[in-house]
Amino acid sequence: MSATATAAPVNDDRSFFGHPRGLATLFFTEMWERFSYYGMRAILVFFLSASVANGGLGMEKPLASSLVSVYGAAIYMSALAGGWLADRLLGSQRSVFYGGVLIMAGHICMALPFGSTSVFLGLLLIILGSSLLKPNISSVVGSLYEKTDARRDSGFSLFYMGINIGSFSGQLVTGYLGEKVNWHVGFGAAAVGMAIGLIQYKLGARHLGAAAATPSNPLTADERSKAYGRIGMSVGAILVVGVVMFLTGTLTAYGIKNAISIAAMVLPVIYFTVMLRSPKTTKVERDRVKAYIPLFIASALFWLIFEQAANVLNIYADERVEKTVFGWEFPASWFQSVNPMFLIVLAPIVAWIWLRLGTRQPSTPRKFAVAVATVGLSFGVLALVALFGDATTKVSPMWLLLVYGIQTVAELLLSPVGLSMTTKLAPAAFLSQMMGMWFLSTAAGYGIAAQVVPFYSAENELAYFGILALCAIALSVLIWIGAKRIKKLMHGVI
Ligand code: GLN
Repeated sequence: MSATATAAPVNDDRSFFGHPRGLATLFFTEMWERFSYYGMRAILVFFLSASVANGGLGMEKPLASSLVSVYGAAIYMSALAGGWLADRLLGSQRSVFYGGVLIMAGHICMALPFGSTSVFLGLLLIILGSSLLKPNISSVVGSLYEKTDARRDSGFSLFYMGINIGSFSGQLVTGYLGEKVNWHVGFGAAAVGMAIGLIQYKLGARHLGAAAATPSNPLTADERSKAYGRIGMSVGAILVVGVVMFLTGTLTAYGIKNAISIAAMVLPVIYFTVMLRSPKTTKVERDRVKAYIPLFIASALFWLIFEQAANVLNIYADERVEKTVFGWEFPASWFQSVNPMFLIVLAPIVAWIWLRLGTRQPSTPRKFAVAVATVGLSFGVLALVALFGDATTKVSPMWLLLVYGIQTVAELLLSPVGLSMTTKLAPAAFLSQMMGMWFLSTAAGYGIAAQVVPFYSAENELAYFGILALCAIALSVLIWIGAKRIKKLMHGVI
């Protein structure tokens, strides 16, 4: 990884692989946070659907599967609120700490064997905590560097490595403990992971200095009362929806699932309308927002397929894949670690390819088109396995390794590219909200997935994987055809 700075950075510290020491603090905090997040997520669908006799909540698989998707939608939707709170009230550094505390409390709730109440309270706490931690820890990474510091991109790549090292190890540990020992011991491991991350964050906080320590755009006294009014109104609106659902008898797991799913689809529409109509958005900025719309749709469809790892592909691994090696059956959730493992290996190679290609790189819309087709291809492989096999015999684990391998290549074409594109296409007045928009594309993908995943079953694999693969390929063709127009609307942003 190159670490040469062209302009003299203010933060001249190079003690962490050529990067400021503060990056190590953030790297390990996010590593442990992702250890807990992905670790818990890896066994969630199994825990929700396991029979009560086996320590689970005894839900039907389609509902359990949907709930994993709405949980993801809620996690990524709430990033909008967390980003706002940090920008305007708390500052990112403090938000990360409070977020971590809430996440740890959430995992502790889930570790307690008190049935569904403590589980749902736990999930809610993790959602609230992630909203404060996930978007803001990235802002602190960005704030370690001056705008002109050439180490910024490689700093983010290193940070993405931390995410995947955490995800890789968390899913192995929690997966083994949850599936082979006891679900709650698995959730306990996630709580311990987050606790280590928090201790480490506190001990290393002094290395962060002033990076995003205070709100970047603090509320003025005037705005404060208006903002509190709006927060009150939003909380009120959620309560009203809750009361109406309660009164109409729809405040059930199904009802909540549908409400969150709809919110994840409607929120982006509202946000795009506000940005396009705002008098603060200039003509060029408006074009850029328009260019963002097809890319947002591509991203949502991408995550819709990609983020089925923890439910549909987990169930597939459990029911349909041969898992015995040397007479021992390994936990199905271990397949969850395949994507981060490939990512750790492939990320430096892809970064090297982009560096070599320099200005000859494909444009962002083209990269997105290829990413969407590629993720579609991964489901195409599963459709072919279904076509040539039958639902009663187990398939080789190699197929699932291939599927995750293809998905990882697709992820590398879209995820890091999307992050940097988002910051570049953002209208000045909506900079931090636009970061939230990027996470909202994941939320929308998860929200739609919540409606789609219940259709999966071992009997209809060909149709399930085949239709999703065809949708992805069709969208990819549209984006590819429209790439030139989209690029024009981007006005020079590549
Ligand atoms: N795997 C990455 C992370 O955990 C990206 C996930 C996403 O944006 N959907 O941060």
